[in-house]
Amino acid sequence: MKKLALHWKILIGMGLGVAFALLMIQFSFGKTFIVDWIKPFGKIFINCLKLIAVPLILASLIKGISDLKDISKLSKMGGRTIGTYILTTIVAVSIGLAVVNIVKPGNYIDEETRSELMASNKASADSKIAAAHSQKESGPLQALIDIVPDNIVKAASNNRNMLQVIFFAIFFAIGLILIPEKKSRPVKEFFDSFNDVILKMIDLIMLAAPFGVFALLASLVAESPSLALFQALGMYALCVVLGLVLMVAFYISMVKVFTKKSPKFFLNGISPAQLLAFSTSSSAATLPVTMERVEEHLGVEKEVSSFVLPIGATINMDGTSLYQAVAAVFIAQAFGMDLSFGVQLGIIATATLASIGSAAVPGAGMVMLVIVLAQAGIPEAGLALIFAVDRPLDMCRTTVNVTGDASVSMIIAKSLGKLGKPKPKEWDDNYDAVK
Ligand code: ASP
Repeated sequence: MKKLALHWKILIGMGLGVAFALLMIQFSFGKTFIVDWIKPFGKIFINCLKLIAVPLILASLIKGISDLKDISKLSKMGGRTIGTYILTTIVAVSIGLAVVNIVKPGNYIDEETRSELMASNKASADSKIAAAHSQKESGPLQALIDIVPDNIVKAASNNRNMLQVIFFAIFFAIGLILIPEKKSRPVKEFFDSFNDVILKMIDLIMLAAPFGVFALLASLVAESPSLALFQALGMYALCVVLGLVLMVAFYISMVKVFTKKSPKFFLNGISPAQLLAFSTSSSAATLPVTMERVEEHLGVEKEVSSFVLPIGATINMDGTSLYQAVAAVFIAQAFGMDLSFGVQLGIIATATLASIGSAAVPGAGMVMLVIVLAQAGIPEAGLALIFAVDRPLDMCRTTVNVTGDASVSMIIAKSLGKLGKPKPKEWDDNYDAVK
């Protein structure tokens, strides 16, 4: 019998998780049971993924860049990557602004619902605002300083410092290119094998993916707020989702135009990573799987994927920036404010920067939204309005963040002549589909 493709197994896991939670919450003990006995397995699954993120970045970047053999190739790839990332983010924010200005979801919120939402979510919103302020109280070049670690062990001990680990790995790899081949070979071979071990660990973790997403979605449904809140914010949520769908259509068209690869090829290759992004709400946790899928199923060569993807996971968050634009204008509309064209242009700039600064973890986009609101003169307290639906929207925007990184990696690879044939392992579930 033909084996079921990985994305189907994950989808089935997700569906069963939702169904199980809907059934269990009918019983009085259901929610506690899920929180005590199911949720921990979801957490363990995410921890396993995060566990390998730092070693993976170190090994694959050092191997990938040192294979380039020539620093000018690195600067060419670096320039194109950052340029394309900024461009796609600007497109994302513009799509978000267009949708929210046409649909005007803020007009669907009446005075009473607004006060209700503000009151019930004030405490949670205040904590996000406080988190944002602690980030804001620094000089204009703080972001640059933050990229350069003063201690690699300290940097590698916190998943939020991904950019610092990337900096170290690139710096190390440049050193490796510059020393004689005879001396560099053992180090390269070490990282090469190290990288293979990590990839094998990803395979092992992915065996548990259907069960991991089952646990994640079951606990999410069991702990979700009431349906009435979702209804009040339905129009706003719809705008975010519509914008995100348009963004995915944009990626698919870009991949088609620049690489001539069909949407089916692209989506089949990347879908397990998308589903994991949806289930975990973390681009960082999804990164190991994104890298594996892009290399083995989309044909991007390691030199490119190992550079473009970790950087993308940390700075390229198109879904997040789109959401920030929609959310900011929605809050302004709900408060009866009219935003001028100039202010909306300002939102394009701040949402682009805010998404670059957002950590690749759940809920980070909402913290940085505070900065977008402050710059546009929109009341920060408005965060309480959108709090209730943030988690499901986080799941959707993280999926788009990961899709964006994957599509850009294909385009950069193509432009550098590094887009080859997919090379799935023979025992891979999707081997037949991409052979
Ligand atoms: N959860 C998102 C990510 O990891 C960031 C955010 O928008 O909150 O990509």
